[in-house]
Amino acid sequence: MATFKLLDRGRAKRAIDLLEKEYKDSKYYLSFKTPIDLLVAAILSAQTRDEVTNSVTPELFKRYKTAGDYANARPEELSKLISRVTFFGNKAKSIINACRIIVEKYDGRVPKSMEELLELPGVGRKTANTILINAYGIVEGIPVDTWVIKLSGRIGLSRESDPDKIEDELEAYVDRKYWKNITYVLKAHGKKICQSRVPICSQCPIGPGSRNPICPQNGVTESR
Ligand code: SF4
Repeated sequence: MATFKLLDRGRAKRAIDLLEKEYKDSKYYLSFKTPIDLLVAAILSAQTRDEVTNSVTPELFKRYKTAGDYANARPEELSKLISRVTFFGNKAKSIINACRIIVEKYDGRVPKSMEELLELPGVGRKTANTILINAYGIVEGIPVDTWVIKLSGRIGLSRESDPDKIEDELEAYVDRKYWKNITYVLKAHGKKICQSRVPICSQCPIGPGSRNPICPQNGVTESR
């Protein structure tokens, strides 16, 4: 059985520095203009490709602009507009119920604290961190998505599979200045080089043939 190698802190920091440098222009990937747009887009994006979410939201954001608009939406009408995303019926319910709470408790404004965001249906820590960072510039934690989970394991940044534990581990040694962007850096690297099925390790800035061969390639059985 292959052994899992966890990087020591120094090498983990070096790996992150190199990836941050390589993907310095990476940024959040869903389209939005307002905090309420972002909340809705983030709920829709769960287990749905970004391209699909971004293809649905322009029409949606034209029709519904405020938390009140969503709170008063007819579930069938909202479901129809988002029918290209997965679990659209449940997501429509989450959006309507989350927006009812926002109207009743927060005067129609998306709240600005982790605790309050986590009370909203359809919002977990990843979404809450995403909203705080991208809507308000508040960096409280690291959004852990599927790319962060996969690449953290491969690179040896975390042995955990639970997103909350991975977030704790990463926060222990990722420089705070990188917290707001590390998710998008790892995603950019995953899309371009550390691809899901067969990573292109030969072209990786922390791969075996590079000047900084840091990555232990945990779980990689085949690479290009
Ligand atoms: S060396 Fe391979 S497995 Fe490691 S980060 Fe690079 S592409 Fe991914």
